[in-house]
Amino acid sequence: MKYFVKNDKVHKYPVPSSCNVKHTGEKLHDSPPAGYEKCDHCFTNLPR
Ligand SMILES: [Zn+2]
Repeated sequence: MKYFVKNDKVHKYPVPSSCNVKHTGEKLHDSPPAGYEKCDHCFTNLPR
């Protein structure tokens, strides 16, 4: 699993079907980069 930042949010890569963002060449990270909000659609298992 990789991660990338788009529109100031961290998304997973490959992007799950629940998220409508497309990866268009953004830099891929091995772990979620700090300092960004996580996409609600990509990170559905976050504790609330
Ligand atoms: Zn997403």
